[in-house]
Amino acid sequence: MPRVPRASDRHCRTGEAAADNGDVVDLSCAFHRSWFIGRLVAAIERKISLVAVIPFPKRKVSKAIAKEELALLEAAYPHAVTALSYRNPFELLVAVILSAQCTDARVNLTTPALFAAFPTAKALANARAIDVERLIQSCGFFRTKAKNIVAAARALVEAHEGRVPETREELEALPGVGRKTASVVLSVAFGAAAFAVDTHVFRVAHRLGFTTGTTPLAVERDVTGLLPESKWRFAHHWLILHGRAICKAQRPLCDRCPVRQLCPSASIVAKTRAGRENSGAAGAEVRRRVRSISKASKE
Ligand code: SF4
Repeated sequence: MPRVPRASDRHCRTGEAAADNGDVVDLSCAFHRSWFIGRLVAAIERKISLVAVIPFPKRKVSKAIAKEELALLEAAYPHAVTALSYRNPFELLVAVILSAQCTDARVNLTTPALFAAFPTAKALANARAIDVERLIQSCGFFRTKAKNIVAAARALVEAHEGRVPETREELEALPGVGRKTASVVLSVAFGAAAFAVDTHVFRVAHRLGFTTGTTPLAVERDVTGLLPESKWRFAHHWLILHGRAICKAQRPLCDRCPVRQLCPSASIVAKTRAGRENSGAAGAEVRRRVRSISKASKE
């Protein structure tokens, strides 16, 4: 990918809108327009290849098979716990809000300085958003997250004496806290029966045939229906760890997977891979389509 063109570039005929930090490009300029179209084409190509990668199974497996698969995952990840570092429910709540669209490792690098500066809900409630932004800027969407964690801290101080509430209803009433964040806090901080669905859980649950649900809530209902309540909070970690280590989004490592004998996606993955390897013609077709989009956009 070429670097972002700048106002000072000679190719730019107008040089008006391309800021020197490269944030803004002038689409009335031929050079910037072709740069922008290049990015658009790359994004479309990425999208096409991702969508075409590995389809989910169309049907659920039987309950008996699903339970066997879960038992194998439980055996494979017997000590599964959250990868987020925290010392109390307040720190966990903040860390989970920060972890949206960001890796746990990145959050763990960010939170020590944040909690050193603002160790309690009261301290964070009185913080200026700009100071919080500076401390969390390596996490994605840091402006929104800064706003949310300060607002959540204020709500904790105003409605809960600075403590993190222990009910889903109260948690979901906090700014920046949705069902997934509430489920993680309930299950990890308070040991409650809750099953959080993130991107890894969503993918692995589909690949293993636990669900065909199209929403996190539907997936949650299908998976929790397969397990006793006492295991919900652990199952979340089995699926996350499996998704991160083995059942990766684009390149699942089926040959190292403890569940492959039962998994309905193992054959789909193999077929998709074989198809991809023999798909010189299909790949060329995709590239031809993308080139024609590019050409049409230039005209
Ligand atoms: S066999 Fe492959 S697709 Fe199925 S769970 Fe294992 S890694 Fe994922």
